[in-house]
Formats: sequence, structure tokens, C-alpha cells
Amino acid sequence: MIDPLTLPKAELHLHIEGTLEPELMFKLARRNGVRLPYPDAEAVRRAYRFSNLQSFLDVYYRACSVLIHERDFYELTAAYLARARDQGVRHVEIFFDPQTHAARGVQLETVVRGIGRALTEARQRGMTSYLIMCFLRDRPVDDAMATLEQALAHRDAIFGVGLDSAEVGHPPEKFRDVFDRAINAGFRAVAHAGEEGPPEYIWQALDVLGAERIDHGVRCLEDRSLVQRLGTDRIPLTVCPFSNVKLRVVGSLEEHPLAKMLDHGLCATVNSDDPAYFGGYVGDNLAGVAEALRLDDSALVHLARNSFEASFLDDAARARHIAELTAAG
Ligand SMILES: [Zn+2]
Repeated sequence: MIDPLTLPKAELHLHIEGTLEPELMFKLARRNGVRLPYPDAEAVRRAYRFSNLQSFLDVYYRACSVLIHERDFYELTAAYLARARDQGVRHVEIFFDPQTHAARGVQLETVVRGIGRALTEARQRGMTSYLIMCFLRDRPVDDAMATLEQALAHRDAIFGVGLDSAEVGHPPEKFRDVFDRAINAGFRAVAHAGEEGPPEYIWQALDVLGAERIDHGVRCLEDRSLVQRLGTDRIPLTVCPFSNVKLRVVGSLEEHPLAKMLDHGLCATVNSDDPAYFGGYVGDNLAGVAEALRLDDSALVHLARNSFEASFLDDAARARHIAELTAAG
């Protein structure tokens, strides 16, 4: 019997700001003199009842106000990496939202340095990583472009760009010029699409933005020709089961379309999105769907294998991880 919790895996859809556990939130709030609208960590957890994506984002952006100094971003990332290592993560591609922090006067350099220091330490212990900078799609395009211009100075630390935040009403095509410029500058591209938004947004992410991987993408199943395209081109989908239930994208884990996506031959992977808010890290997500969807050992190994295939690792590193996985299974 395979233990999904510790099975070797890559995590490809993880917002570092979404790993802020209430205890660390209070520690940083005290240290930085930030007032939180909650009396204690338990009250924060009670506030984590969401009706949709926006209701989550409101709580999430407020919590980010405690992140100010390089050391805060370092501690946040180090805490996540320790948990991820315990859950079998060998490689992680981490999202961060610089615009959220710039709005509070926190420089891109502060964020990148703090996160980067923790990633360097983890690399020394054998965990590899890439950093992906996300644009907030519900902010003006000019703001995203200005953020990209700043990121050019950190080209060595930032591997790729993504698109996140409130989806409906903010189609990917709005960001065509930003992604063109980013790809020309050598960044790899991914985008959130088809979580709350329609399949059309997934088409746009692929054909207008040039995204190589789709984050979420669960609504692809509504469009047969899209499913065909995703399957034929082996375009990975970073699925986040606990997130989908918490944000009411699906009714329950038992109703989650992950198994259907695998049946269609899609390169679906399991990820945690914002684990501090959604009830578990990547291994917990995998264990959750394994039980709810009655996935057998071969399906679990298949999902873990997909996670390495879907990563931006080079062929040699991928092959090494898949060999370890084969030995485990
Ligand atoms: Zn996400």
C-alpha cells in the first residue's frame, strides 16, 4: 500500500502567501506592529468559511499585511518548505504576488530575497525549486507591465510568470502584451484559468498568452474540443482539490472531476493552492482524493509521475525523480 502523504512528488500550484498559518500570522503581526481584525489564531481559522473565490481573497489580502520585511518572507517560505518536505515534495514551483506587497510599500527585491534565501537553504538539503511571479488579473494591465519591468532586474531569481486572483470578468486576453513581453524576456508562462471562469479562458491562456501549463482548469471538461487539445498537446493542469471544495467550485471531494480528467488522458496533477486556508498541504490533498475517489496505488503513482512530467525540470532531473517513484511504487 502506497502512502499518498509521503509519496515522492512535485508541487506546481502553491501560492507562498497562502501558506501563512494563523500562528505565524500572529507572530509577524506582533513583531511588525500590525493590527489584525481577529483576537487569536482560532478566530482566524473560524473566519476560513468561504462562499466563493472573492470571499477568500478578501481574507487572504488582509492577512498579507503582516508580511513586511525580508525576514518575514524568509520565515514564511522556510515554514512551507519544511511541511512540504514532510509530505514527500522533491521539487516545488512557487507562486508569489508582488503587486499585493507593492501596494503596502514592500519592494519586489525584499520579497524575492526573503523567499530566495529559504529556497537556497532547501536546495542544499536536496529540494529543488523555481519561483513564478503572478500578475493580479483584477488589477490594471499597466500595473502588471510595470511589475514585469521591475522583475527584469531579478531575472536570475524569477523563473516564470503566472496570472491569478479574481477570475470572472478578467479574461486572459487582457494580458496579451504583458505575457508577450515576459516570454520574449525568457520567462516561462503559466496561467490560472477555468476555475470559476469558462473554458474560453483556458483557450485564451493557451493561444493568446502562450501559457505552457494551466492552473486549475477543471472547467475544461465542459468543452470537448478543449479536452482533446489539452490531451493531444499534453498540456498539464494543476488541480487543487481542497481549494475547489472550499471555494465551492465543486460540491464535495467525492464529486471532484479529477478522476474524470485522468480518464480523458489529461496530464492532471494534485496541488494545494493556499494550504493554510484550505485545510491541507499537497500530501493531504492527495490522500483526500485517494480516499474520496477510491484511487488505487497505480493511480497515485500516475498522479505523482504527472507532477514531475508537468514541472519545468529538465529531462535528466525528471527521469531521476520518476526512477525514485518507480522504486517507491
Ligand atoms: Zn491558485
